[in-house]
Amino acid sequence: MIETISTKAYGTEAAEAPLDQLGIERRKPTAHDVEIDILFCGVCHSDVHTARNEWPGTLYPCVPGHEIVGKIVSVGGHVSKFKVGDVVGVGCMVDSCRECQYCNEGLEQYCEPGMTGTYNAPDKHLNTHTFGGYSERIVVDENFVLSIPDNLDLAAAAPLLCAGITTYSPLKHWNVGPGQKVGVVGIGGLGHMGIKIAKAMGAEVVAFTTSESKFAEAKRLGADEVVLSKDKEQMAAYRGKLHFILDAVSAEHDINAYISLLRVDGSLALVGAPEQPLPVAAFSLITGRKSFAGSMIGGIAETQEMLDFCGEHNITADIEMIDVQQINEAYDRMVKGDVKYRFVIDMASLKEEK
Ligand code: NAP
Ligand code: ZN
Ligand code: ZN
Repeated sequence: MIETISTKAYGTEAAEAPLDQLGIERRKPTAHDVEIDILFCGVCHSDVHTARNEWPGTLYPCVPGHEIVGKIVSVGGHVSKFKVGDVVGVGCMVDSCRECQYCNEGLEQYCEPGMTGTYNAPDKHLNTHTFGGYSERIVVDENFVLSIPDNLDLAAAAPLLCAGITTYSPLKHWNVGPGQKVGVVGIGGLGHMGIKIAKAMGAEVVAFTTSESKFAEAKRLGADEVVLSKDKEQMAAYRGKLHFILDAVSAEHDINAYISLLRVDGSLALVGAPEQPLPVAAFSLITGRKSFAGSMIGGIAETQEMLDFCGEHNITADIEMIDVQQINEAYDRMVKGDVKYRFVIDMASLKEEK
């Protein structure tokens, strides 16, 4: 029997139920584990999709949260990479098989038998499923723990653990850089990081938004140009002009309208994960040898590379800090696109709640 630690968390028992305080058990750190006192946790739209069972398959109770920053408070006997007091991060994965071809290539997110998600995945140690970062503490194998550059604000760095890597990885994979015009669609948590990172990689960035209130601000985030995507004339001006498009929209939208903006041989990578399929018209693709692709988070080594890149370029998220008790309201606001640009939970609010 593995010994456990009773831990306060925030989560939900059902798709229609609001999130509220609940108790979970974490394993006591085993030889390769670190125990992290969670300081901040970002709120990703995937948390909403999962808590509300919008992608079917949610295991309840569900404790979301995979943009975790905290301080190590204890370490197992064989931990060599970290020590008590280190400030660290945990993203979307807490384990993988570590022996398949993809794990060996540092692509643990595409692990053949499947990576272990930080929440909503079978727990390899306890007879339950994994619980995420809306909690006081988490226990994670040191190989899935990241170092946070010490020049970054910790709360604003939390969203790098998902929104940062999910945008960095495809931008890097498709060799985005100087001389290229890159579109970022949907200026939410992921999209606003996409703008900052693509700009830091040297590309010319065009932001596409449905929100008039984000129009002026997208330039402050680093976009060279901004397009109100509901305006057909503004969209038409970019036909055939973009080398690459990163699509971070969380809901159904017309994907062909964006594919038509690609140059010949251009690629559109989807990182947004709407519940319903997005129909792609054959002629959108074949009339320019275009690619329609997807990308999921990034591997552990690449996540550390992204954090170091953000440290060098002083990149963090623009955040609105909330107490955990405001999480249900935050979810509703996020669904309406009313967040600039990422909610981050100050976990002191959970620790203080009776
Ligand atoms: P978010 O902060 O809610 O941002 C989504 C943005 O999409 C909104 O701010 C809005 O931008 C736009 N949008 C929303 N509804 C729309 C609609 N009906 N039509 C057109 N545009 C709409 O969400 P997020 O946390 O960035 O996540 C975005 C998506 O990526 C989610 O589906 C999430 O699950 C997924 N995700 C995927 C990965 C991965 O590994 N691939 C990782 C994390 C998240 P504007 O106001 O600018 O139009
Ligand atoms: Zn996420
Ligand atoms: Zn594997």
